[in-house]
Amino acid sequence: MNDPDFTLSAGPVTASARTLAALGSPITYHYDPAFLECFRRTERKVARVLQTSADVVLMQGEAVLGLEAAARALVRPGTPVLNLVSGVFGKGMGYWLSDFGADLHEIEVAYNDAVGATEVERFLRSHPEIEVVAVVHSETPSGTLNPVAEIGPIARAHGALTLVDCVSSVGGIPFKADEWQLDVCVAGPQKCLGGPPGMSLMSVSEGAWARIGANPAAPRASFLSLLDWKEQWLEGGTFPFTPSVSDVHGVEAACDQLLEEGLESSIERHELSARACRAGIRAMGLELWPRTEEITAACVTAVTVPDGLTDVQVRSHVRERYGVMISGGQGAGNLVRIGHMGPTARGLHPVVGVAALGRALTDLGVQAEIGAGVEAALEVLAREAAPVA
Ligand SMILES: *Cc1c(COP(=O)(O)O)cnc(C)c1O
Repeated sequence: MNDPDFTLSAGPVTASARTLAALGSPITYHYDPAFLECFRRTERKVARVLQTSADVVLMQGEAVLGLEAAARALVRPGTPVLNLVSGVFGKGMGYWLSDFGADLHEIEVAYNDAVGATEVERFLRSHPEIEVVAVVHSETPSGTLNPVAEIGPIARAHGALTLVDCVSSVGGIPFKADEWQLDVCVAGPQKCLGGPPGMSLMSVSEGAWARIGANPAAPRASFLSLLDWKEQWLEGGTFPFTPSVSDVHGVEAACDQLLEEGLESSIERHELSARACRAGIRAMGLELWPRTEEITAACVTAVTVPDGLTDVQVRSHVRERYGVMISGGQGAGNLVRIGHMGPTARGLHPVVGVAALGRALTDLGVQAEIGAGVEAALEVLAREAAPVA
């Protein structure tokens, strides 16, 4: 099969030409001084993207590695943890935490909803023993957003550390690790940064390091070890193992592009694409998956699949008939997602997504007001988008 004309997925997303070019940089020895400089520069750039002055650890594996490593580092058998579940990634974190022996407490809401900060505050007040709060910022499979800006300070005031999955929010949705008082944050390059999949971009606060260092269950001499990265690399200048040289170049280029554009402009662009996409979906007579507009995430638009069809059927038809790759619900429900992240959170991409989805549904026997959808999406862009040139 040919490559798609448009990748409007929930990630990995289309990478920019600059990222692709950087991925083609020469592969050097990892102790070559040029690579060492590149690695250090990339750490500092990731810190700027995460808005933190804390240590940055670049783990050499897709963000799931960083999330598992963080969970293992923070808990030991019996640790009382509050895990917030509003979707697939929150649920998965809970499975890990209980596997690692945590005394697991969860606030769970429907997968089209978000966890309220007041519920978190109330729960912590009645459970003073909680030591760690785990939360997903943008629950990508549901297209929803949890109020991490409020949850961070609540957890800190309670004396608990936070473990934050910000894989799909960073670069496209406001995210401020220090201002929001977050402890361990895990981002991914392949979402709003428009970088390559294959690395975990993490920040670790001093409080988190203290806890991890004192945790006899935290992995050591392991691919999953944050402590190895701290002791060998951050403090000793020796890599625990060979970094993914090409991916590091790709991540640096993705960060450069974002920082040159400016975080705020990038976020505005993602929000505008999301508004255009949502307007198009509603005008076609379709339903957004998130319960309310206020909890929608700007990185993907999740759309309820009409009765009688499945997400896989719709996604496959859009791809096979129209060459546009969108995403299914990844277990969150019968929904499809139009991604607008990185290079696709720009220009007419959302219009392409709306038109392709509308036409596919019509082909499959569900009436969609395609013209109205395209017009509504264009109307938002015409009114709000800055001139291209
Ligand atoms: C993409 C993503 C991850 C990484 O998971 P993969 O399924 O390997 O892509 C983790 N958390 C969230 C919220 C994500 O969007």
